[in-house]
Amino acid sequence: MVVGGGIAGLVAARGLAATGRDVLLLEASPLLGGKLRTAEVAGLPVDVGAEAMLARRPEGLDLAAELGAEVLHPTPATSGVWSRGALRALPRSLMGVPLDLDQLAASGVLSPDGLARATAETATEVTDDVSVGELVAARLGDEVVERLVEPLLGGVYAGHARRISAAAAVPQLLAMARRGSLLEQAATVPVSTAPVFATLAGGMGTLPGLVRDAGGFDVRTSATVRALRHLGSAGSPSGWAVTVGPTTHPETIEATEVVLATPSAPTARLLAEVSPEAAADLAVIESASVAVVSLAFRAQDVPDALFERSGFLVPPVEQRAIKAATFSFAKWAWVRDLDPDVVVLRTSLGRHREEATLQAADEGLVRVSLADLTAMSGLTARPVDTHVQRWGGALPQYAVGHLDRVARVRASIARLPGLALCGAAYDGVGVPAVIGSARRAVASLTQAD
Ligand SMILES: Cc1cc2nc3c(=O)[nH]c(=O)nc-3n(C[C@H](O)[C@H](O)[C@H](O)COP(=O)(O)OP(=O)(O)OC[C@H]3O[C@@H](n4cnc5c(N)ncnc54)[C@H](O)[C@@H]3O)c2cc1C
Repeated sequence: MVVGGGIAGLVAARGLAATGRDVLLLEASPLLGGKLRTAEVAGLPVDVGAEAMLARRPEGLDLAAELGAEVLHPTPATSGVWSRGALRALPRSLMGVPLDLDQLAASGVLSPDGLARATAETATEVTDDVSVGELVAARLGDEVVERLVEPLLGGVYAGHARRISAAAAVPQLLAMARRGSLLEQAATVPVSTAPVFATLAGGMGTLPGLVRDAGGFDVRTSATVRALRHLGSAGSPSGWAVTVGPTTHPETIEATEVVLATPSAPTARLLAEVSPEAAADLAVIESASVAVVSLAFRAQDVPDALFERSGFLVPPVEQRAIKAATFSFAKWAWVRDLDPDVVVLRTSLGRHREEATLQAADEGLVRVSLADLTAMSGLTARPVDTHVQRWGGALPQYAVGHLDRVARVRASIARLPGLALCGAAYDGVGVPAVIGSARRAVASLTQAD
């Protein structure tokens, strides 16, 4: 049995079914896919959750290949960053650490003082885990953190650089810092022409349906799992019983194996009885709520110049409402081809512990998005349609020490035969990492076969 029908749960269910097991997937919401979702904006089906996956990790592309899905890459349009009163080219970086100082200087993202500080790297000792922000600020100064690291981490984790673990979020950076100068090593990172990102024809929101169709497993939606207990003795469980459905009509389903592919908070609740220590570790993983505002315009109302950028990031220090805008029509040919007379773009709002930003009606989020877009890109057109997707508690925050926490959780769960965990809370929040965690969960259950 698999609990949770996001991409982790779907991939786990498919992997277990492939070994000949009878698999039932239970999903709390009426829809499968979790943070992968398509919705209609001006009648066009577009992504309102994840819209891309890293192409430099194999798991997402491998899954697409297994499913026979067509993989698409973004157009050559480049991304920008709103900094010091202007939209500027985003310099090449490793999660904000500049890989090309000339490009950084030419971009104007940093002030002259900030640039001078960044180029005069301070040698610091790095031993244990440290936050990405602390690590980079000590080496290259606060401005690199405020104007490059923050917007990039904000885009992936909706988190704050001075809280997110370098070991969990950017291990390459920590390894470089331990070896020596960040800038010297960054200068040797080759410029790659290979695409960094990919999606599927029709968007990432098509992936859940493809996995389900290929799956060979049963699915129940609107089926919230409320409790998990072991059958047999606590020390050596002989199977599992889950309680599913409304509290007024609870149903018990028994299974030999259970994969919990749920976010950390529900996973902690479900583990409370069978592994209190893992539950305690998971319960303290915080998460950030975000919203994606999709806006459709008549193509003729959108200045040509906007087609040259795939979007832009906004550092928190700029104190704007939006933290990023993705010009989907310019970034993805498949979106543009949906209807050449309509262009769709999206903004994202919300950072960890800043839920107040999202405490507005949908119209309010549309209004502030439009105001920021006008100020930052010159787009003054009125949208022909809008869509607001709220994602409560969507992105787990990998605080300093996250890897140790996950190792402890895995050690506790390993003592419970027939139980496995996967999803965004553990080994990375990106779609390929989440797929990888699902494959790992399947392997942990099937290796004894
Ligand atoms: C707005 C946004 C944009 C993103 N953009 C990108 C991107 O462009 N590229 C990228 O790689 N990643 C992106 N991500 C991250 C990525 O989408 C997620 O980390 C990933 O999809 C999470 O998958 P998951 O299966 O672990 O969890 P989820 O998608 O959260 O799925 C968990 C499922 O469990 C269900 N569930 C919860 N509790 C229960 C219960 N008690 N019983 C039954 N079911 C339950 C939920 O309803 C949900 O469907 C984005 C995330 C967000 C929020």
